[in-house]
Amino acid sequence: MLSPSKGSRALLRHINQIMLQPSTASERLKKIVVQIAQTMVAEVCSVYISSPTGKLELIATEGLKENAIGKASLVIGEGLVGLIAKEAKPVAVDDAPNHPEFKFLPNIGEEPYKAFLGVPILRSGQTLGVLVIQNRVRQDYKEEDIEALEIIAHILSDLIINDPTISTDKVAAADPLMSRAMHLKGSVISTGIGIGQVVLHQQRVAVTKRIAEDIDYETTRLKAAVHDMRDSIDKVLERTERSLQGESAEIMQSIKMFAYDKGWYQRMNDAIQQGLTAEAAVEQVQSDARARLLRNPDAILADRLHDLEDLTNRMLRRLMGLPIDALYRTMPDNPVLVARHMGPAELLDYTGQNLAGVIVEDGSHSSHVAIVARALGIPSISQLPSVTDLVEDGDAIILDGQEGDVHIRPTEHIIQCYEEQFKNECLIREKYSKIAQEKALTKDGVSLRLMMNAGLLVDMGQLFSAGAEGVGLFRTEFQYMIAQHLPRIEDQVRNYATILDMAGEKPVVFRTLDIGGDKRLSYIPHPEEENPALGLRAIRLSLQAPAIFRKQIRSLLRAAGGRHLNLMFPMVSDISEFHDAKKLVEREFNYLTRRGHAMPRRIHYGVMLEVPSLLFVLDELCKEIDFLSIGSNDLMQFFFAIDRDNHAVSNLFDIISHAPLRALRSIVQACEKHNVNLSFCGEVGSDPVALLALMSIGIREISMSSRAIGRAKYIIQNTDISQIEQIVLPILSSSALKNDDLREKLSELLPENL
Ligand code: PEP
Ligand code: MG
Repeated sequence: MLSPSKGSRALLRHINQIMLQPSTASERLKKIVVQIAQTMVAEVCSVYISSPTGKLELIATEGLKENAIGKASLVIGEGLVGLIAKEAKPVAVDDAPNHPEFKFLPNIGEEPYKAFLGVPILRSGQTLGVLVIQNRVRQDYKEEDIEALEIIAHILSDLIINDPTISTDKVAAADPLMSRAMHLKGSVISTGIGIGQVVLHQQRVAVTKRIAEDIDYETTRLKAAVHDMRDSIDKVLERTERSLQGESAEIMQSIKMFAYDKGWYQRMNDAIQQGLTAEAAVEQVQSDARARLLRNPDAILADRLHDLEDLTNRMLRRLMGLPIDALYRTMPDNPVLVARHMGPAELLDYTGQNLAGVIVEDGSHSSHVAIVARALGIPSISQLPSVTDLVEDGDAIILDGQEGDVHIRPTEHIIQCYEEQFKNECLIREKYSKIAQEKALTKDGVSLRLMMNAGLLVDMGQLFSAGAEGVGLFRTEFQYMIAQHLPRIEDQVRNYATILDMAGEKPVVFRTLDIGGDKRLSYIPHPEEENPALGLRAIRLSLQAPAIFRKQIRSLLRAAGGRHLNLMFPMVSDISEFHDAKKLVEREFNYLTRRGHAMPRRIHYGVMLEVPSLLFVLDELCKEIDFLSIGSNDLMQFFFAIDRDNHAVSNLFDIISHAPLRALRSIVQACEKHNVNLSFCGEVGSDPVALLALMSIGIREISMSSRAIGRAKYIIQNTDISQIEQIVLPILSSSALKNDDLREKLSELLPENL
């Protein structure tokens, strides 16, 4: 059929001329299908495009009946055309009517044709339509024919997307440049309302020239760009293993694997030989890979695709002479970052840009980027597949981090509603920030200590402004989780010392590593477990494989040289674990002392009470420890045997009920008896009604997110503890286990306008 490359290049040139001529889209398409049929020696050439209703409509043909245009259609998955669209893969058959997937469409004049070759028309991995050629006599279509048709389909995707007469309603669903208002629902990873303008994390590069005028020139450009790219990646990796201009070493390593992949280079080269420019070739190879993945989702391949997309973006920027580093661009006011995928280090690179929101296509509530987004207090939403294809830089966007709603190019009415809400949020925040520095003193003169939870250096900036009396829980694992490799001792020492410096006179409770379960480190192997929440995690892991733990302890001891160190062990389920952990610390203390390091003046040892077994050895435990912290998230999960992250069950229990409040009260009493400092940590501490319940049973120290402190102070200042005690304590000691009205009764005591 088509002589490889030469014929297809000539065809592309013809198509280019047709595209440049002034005429309507349907006239152009007609000329194009005639040209394709002629050059490829086919009797039929047809274009089908997908409509938002999921149908593939015939919109141009040479060889089939003209009056079938606009009428003949197939649903995705139906017939050979539907199969191509569904699988986003070419189909070549020499006897189509006898193919099991063939679907006969009456009145389109398809009867005489046996041979069939069809390819998907793809853009950003989405199928916009199908391009087909057919012949009367059986044919064995060659690989070159398929490639040639794919290249033409790539060019056609431009025409389909950019020509409004074709694209308005027919391909609107797949059109990445659509301009209408849209409402999407995702999953909240960090709360708050964000109103602003879209900033694509990987700014899309619009390829303007697709058809090559000089193949050799394009080949040379590609070669030079790949060479440059490899060179710059090598240099970055040589210079540093750590974060540099937004490029983390791990990401760069993965990208490097692609950059040196011969298959990738070869495929781009082939596309140029077929007549594409270097840019179009880069984009086509990426679009094919994405299409394959969208049809067969796979988590590992998805990660690889992110790398390929990153590399594609860099290649396109290089080829088009644009700056590679997105961070150098000017940011609009209130930027809302929209990313297909984003690592924690990449998000941290935007610190100081006043992000109004973050949207990522993938990423769960416990993903690393979510941890950083929450630490930075940026409203963020995830689980919005393909959102990056639906927005452009500068689009107006609103994200509602209460409900998970995202409004793209919102209407005036929606903007007004959210601006109103946003204003209210700001007023409330202002009200709380005014009392942030005041005491947490109840109306009847009882003082509470409000502490803050932290996990990253960025959190520490809130310590004073939020009005926290200290850090009640520093989740040390977060720093390990966002790192690309195990942090070196020197870096850890520096980090912990900075945290202590930033806290000044205020205390910081360092909880030792709580990894395992859902908190995994990418750079160490974790065993597959049936029940990870009950598995080898936290102090169990630290004691069984102490190499990492020991380094952490050494770092903490050195960082706290000459000062107080508060050390807390997570997930202790037996006192012996506390003994073992303490012994290990003492050994490290002696080891470092022998080596001449300055050691802490005093170490306070504490346990995080997260496992109910400790409830029955409280007296013994309290004799050994300096402080106890209730890790209510896990304690309640194990107390009720309810997975804290499973939405189907996580609301089945209420901490404001007999069993947990009685258990918590027994902890308060044991700590009072043994004069052990007690604090309460966990998400429930930020629930206003739960706060009252906790106060009523004698909890006097609570560690919570810095953002919740202002409101908690406001509630405390407006509460009479004796009044809530009178309500809660009799109910707790009564044998009529009626929980229902407890929450209701306490709610009535909350101050208004929270
Ligand atoms: C807890 O379990 O309550 C707790 C504070 O620890 P984490 O949420 O980090 O598991
Ligand atoms: Mg916990």
